Amino acid sequence: MAITHVRPDDRLHLQSIASLFVAASKIVTVTGAGISTKAGIPDFRSRNGLYSLGHRRLFHSSVLSGPEGRPLFYSGITKMRKVVKLASPTRTHRFIASLRDAGKLVRDYTQNIDCLEEKAGLSTDLRKGPGSRSRLCRSRPRQVDCEPRLRDRGVECVLLHGSLRRLRCSNCFSTCCWDEDGREAKTLAGQEPPCPGCAELSEARTAAGKRATAIGTLRPDIVLYDEHDPRADSISAIARHDLLQRPDVLLIMGTSLATHGVKHLVRDFAKIVHRRAGKVVFVNLAEPARNWDGVIDYWVEWDCDTWVHDLTNRQPALCSGSMPRVRADSTGDGEHVNAMASPGYDRGQGSSRDNPIDLALS
Ligand SMILES: [Zn+2]
Repeated sequence: MAITHVRPDDRLHLQSIASLFVAASKIVTVTGAGISTKAGIPDFRSRNGLYSLGHRRLFHSSVLSGPEGRPLFYSGITKMRKVVKLASPTRTHRFIASLRDAGKLVRDYTQNIDCLEEKAGLSTDLRKGPGSRSRLCRSRPRQVDCEPRLRDRGVECVLLHGSLRRLRCSNCFSTCCWDEDGREAKTLAGQEPPCPGCAELSEARTAAGKRATAIGTLRPDIVLYDEHDPRADSISAIARHDLLQRPDVLLIMGTSLATHGVKHLVRDFAKIVHRRAGKVVFVNLAEPARNWDGVIDYWVEWDCDTWVHDLTNRQPALCSGSMPRVRADSTGDGEHVNAMASPGYDRGQGSSRDNPIDLALS
């Protein structure tokens, strides 16, 4: 089915979409750089995006393959991090958090590495796992509502391509704080700090008269184009869990859907949403490619923040703090769906995509 093109003056369809969000109980969101541009963080592909400014190579794994590229990578990414640290969440980030507060959000998946979702109050720690919408409420089936604090929400926002918050060891893969022990000054100067975990282990061994072990170097905890994400299995497990929740709306915002992993993620969720007679809404200034026909139902050609503003004007109940909470145990009728086996949502899988990421960086 062809995609319905919704322009800012298309009141009828904008109202239909707003009603869709009021009625929905399980919403999955997928976001990209377009939701962070209002925070002062440029995207990648627009006229003033990072690629047009000559930063394309910074995000390809080849930048780490030669000695001349590594200092540029470390200093360039650190400069971007300094800008990101000063940025605040946009109206769109806050809208996603309000969907969470209303119990409507199954999960937010973002390609951005700016971590503005965390500043909006969404948890991003993958170790929390998928959580459970009904775990603590099943024993009280007549209870209309459950306090959010009683639910095991798990990780609320999945950072598909990592984040600029921490550094990761290339040897032991543990992460550590970027802001301690002068690490940020080192990476800004193009240097690669040593891993404190590896160093501690090696020192303990030598103190015990044993052979010293290798000490890894730290790198930004982001996933570059053509790289395997060490967290890929965890992300795939959460996505499989969410497919089984049978979401009724998929909302995609501020992304051109160019990366391989995200294409798969969106197609998998769209199949489940359509099986429930739900809708897939795509909010982006650029038109989706023709091969998204039958996947996307509505293309809202609008800036994300402005659309969110319009949406909450049409349905004030969708404003933060005023949405009635959805029952925590409203996870559908228990019907199982055939979730796609081992979907690969990381960017390390071979593909013909021509660029790495839709990350919001500056
Ligand atoms: Zn290490």
